[in-house]
Amino acid sequence: MTAVLRIVLATQNAGKVRELAEPLAHAGVEVLGLDAFPEIGDIAETGLTFEENAYIKAATVARHSGLLSVADDSGLEVDALGGAPGVYSARYADDLPSLPGESRDARNMRKLLQELAGVPEARRTGRYVCCMTAVTPAGQSLATRGVWEGRLLAEQRGHNGFGYDPLFFDPTLGLTAAQMTPEQKNARSHRGKALRALLDRWAAFVRS
Ligand code: IMP
Repeated sequence: MTAVLRIVLATQNAGKVRELAEPLAHAGVEVLGLDAFPEIGDIAETGLTFEENAYIKAATVARHSGLLSVADDSGLEVDALGGAPGVYSARYADDLPSLPGESRDARNMRKLLQELAGVPEARRTGRYVCCMTAVTPAGQSLATRGVWEGRLLAEQRGHNGFGYDPLFFDPTLGLTAAQMTPEQKNARSHRGKALRALLDRWAAFVRS
């Protein structure tokens, strides 16, 4: 399919790039990564909501690159923890010392399991939330939101995906997000829903 539009995907997260690049390419969108614009550097996520942070990331990249930019801000909300880690999902366990060889994702899951210790199964409900925002270099924006309801297990299952996926159980499929194929996760996930909603409104947005 001929590419109809070039965008910059405003994320350094390899897991998000894997999940977004293929559906965007399938929709005829040519996707550039942030590696094409090293001068942009790290973008401080100073917002208090997923919406604010997605806008900050996409608007910063659109302004510096001169291209339409798309950003995803997402995270896990756990009911028994009052909605934590929420917008702080990526940095949740940055206050804990890492164990030898432990990744940031593994440390986050270790903290989540500690915080949920003793919480009965019936109260281990939560959801992934994704806000996706497209911003033009002129500052026009389009935002969508996707939500994926699930439960938090007491032990990890599966090796696919990223982040909290080995603990996030989807009762409908009877699998954790880390046990799903990329296609299964995309069909169910907060990110898949937000992206499909964005693409539904895409043609009108890029024409405007
Ligand atoms: P952000 O880059 O500030 O949006 O942080 C997103 C963080 O939320 C990730 O680093 C993960 O910890 C978590 N997260 C968001 N989406 C997913 C997902 O699909 N699977 C697992 N963890 C996710």
